Amino acid sequence: MSKKALVFAEQKAGKLRNVSFESLTAARRLAEGGEVSAVLFGDETGEKAQELGRYGADRVYVITHDALRNYTPDAFRQALLRLINHTAPDLIVMGHTSIGKDAAPGIAARLGLGLVTDCTDVRVEDGEPVFVRPIYAGKAFQKKRFVEPKYFFTIRPNNIQPEEAVRIPEVIPFDVEIKDIRTTVKEVVRRAASGVDLSEAAVIVSGGRAVKSAEGFKPLYELADALGGAVGASRAACDAGYCDYALQIGQTGKVVTPDLYIACGISGAIQHLAGMSQSKVIVAINKDPEAPIFQIADYGIVGDLFEIVPKLTEAFRKVLSEK
Ligand code: FAD
Repeated sequence: MSKKALVFAEQKAGKLRNVSFESLTAARRLAEGGEVSAVLFGDETGEKAQELGRYGADRVYVITHDALRNYTPDAFRQALLRLINHTAPDLIVMGHTSIGKDAAPGIAARLGLGLVTDCTDVRVEDGEPVFVRPIYAGKAFQKKRFVEPKYFFTIRPNNIQPEEAVRIPEVIPFDVEIKDIRTTVKEVVRRAASGVDLSEAAVIVSGGRAVKSAEGFKPLYELADALGGAVGASRAACDAGYCDYALQIGQTGKVVTPDLYIACGISGAIQHLAGMSQSKVIVAINKDPEAPIFQIADYGIVGDLFEIVPKLTEAFRKVLSEK
């Protein structure tokens, strides 16, 4: 049976995040021909609405309000709740991003709906939507179904391949009243040095305690630059002050699913694996052939990262310049 879907189109630094297109693809898959709408916050929305149309948005609701310029749980929740109550979708999709993780539970609770978070796949099985999510730090997968025919879920970025399904969306301005905001954002300070967004990067070069210093991260940045990727880190490297906590990957850091993850001098503690074990290809560089990271790596290099990383950078630069 076809279903009406509503997708939160998340933006970062004025641009639509990829997870918005992935959410539209997930919504289309489950809507079974039903109408798919997206909701966009802001005032410069013309081109963005068209972009959303390219990935299958039939309608784009545009909510313009000063309180929505930066994320606050009160403002985003109120705006989304008003639209959800107005449009009564059967499916609601958000990215499992900092915003989605923070906002979705509060919205679900107020609507009295169930919520499945952090889905890496969604599909219809025996006529029913099924939601797949990793558990035990990615060691196993859980399949979930909803009891009620109302589906609210968040998807982990970089897992569902966005599929084009071109539409010319109907753009609908939607007015909301927002009040009683309990927090305000004074300033946004971007601390990650790399220009590539870690949670959406296709390639991540990650450094651990073995990198030994902030200076030691330099060859990792060079390798990441050569591959158009971003730099990440283990918690040990962040704790030691070699890099900013914004780079931390793992259970208490970011969860990433790049096409290629290169772990340099990282032992492979379960808490680190929780953030990267779903990467499509994992390369580990470690001096210790018994390091647990080799158990999940697709390719392992036993050796000193300070010798191997510059060689890889040189080799990639050469190959890529020949293309
Ligand atoms: P180590 O475990 O010290 O490993 C360093 C590795 O480098 C070793 O395998 C060594 O053989 C290798 N090595 C040494 N020199 C070289 C060299 N020159 N070349 C190549 N290899 C070399 N950790 C996270 O990463 N993310 C998290 O989100 C996280 N959350 C946590 C939450 C909790 C509640 C707890 C208790 C822990 C958490 N941790 C997290 C910490 C985690 O348990 C590990 O301590 C941490 O991941 C270890 O980091 P590491 O692999 O860089 O360091």
